[in-house]
Amino acid sequence: MKKKKGMLIVLSGPAGVGKGTVCKALRNEGTDIQYSVSATTRAPREGEVDGVNYFFKSKEEFEKMIEGDRLLEWAKYVNNYYGTPLDYVEETIEKGYDVILEIEVQGALQVKRRYPSGVFIFLAPPSLKELRQRIEGRGTETKELIDNRMNVAKDEIELMDQYDYIVENDQVEHAVERIKSIVTAENCRKDRL
Ligand code: 5GP
Repeated sequence: MKKKKGMLIVLSGPAGVGKGTVCKALRNEGTDIQYSVSATTRAPREGEVDGVNYFFKSKEEFEKMIEGDRLLEWAKYVNNYYGTPLDYVEETIEKGYDVILEIEVQGALQVKRRYPSGVFIFLAPPSLKELRQRIEGRGTETKELIDNRMNVAKDEIELMDQYDYIVENDQVEHAVERIKSIVTAENCRKDRL
């Protein structure tokens, strides 16, 4: 039984919760899920490749994408733009594949307004204390920046109720199993067949 259209899956949650790690682990599982590559104005980190990790854009290029309505959603996060190119998502869903977006909370809520049939998953930390330890563990941020990120994270956690599913990221492999189960169940919903 072939689905007519693919599903849009949004994986979101506060910075530092491990969205990137969980998404990478999910990719290594070799499912049919397709991954959208975001556009950003932030500088590439060591080892990041244009078109693979992100499409790295100048501020002007990004603003042109916004004006041309070429983004499904976008957000400004820590002084940089991040956004999801619309064409890839629409074409892939039309072909019948599920697409996952790994994005921050403001963007996820924009997608929810535009694509209410999407599946919205909030990746939650086991506790705020643990989240702080994870952010501190990166070892790159000053105390002030960590405090700022924690304040943003508290606001983001308050928006958790707007999601369909809450997955605790206590251990990466458990979070991945839960997400795979959600995708399987959603694909069996009678209104998606
Ligand atoms: P990073 O700079 O660490 O790669 O990403 C910073 C934050 O931006 C993360 O929370 C990540 O999930 C989010 N992000 C990455 N791509 C997008 C996007 O296309 N749209 C939105 N709204 N957030 C994104």
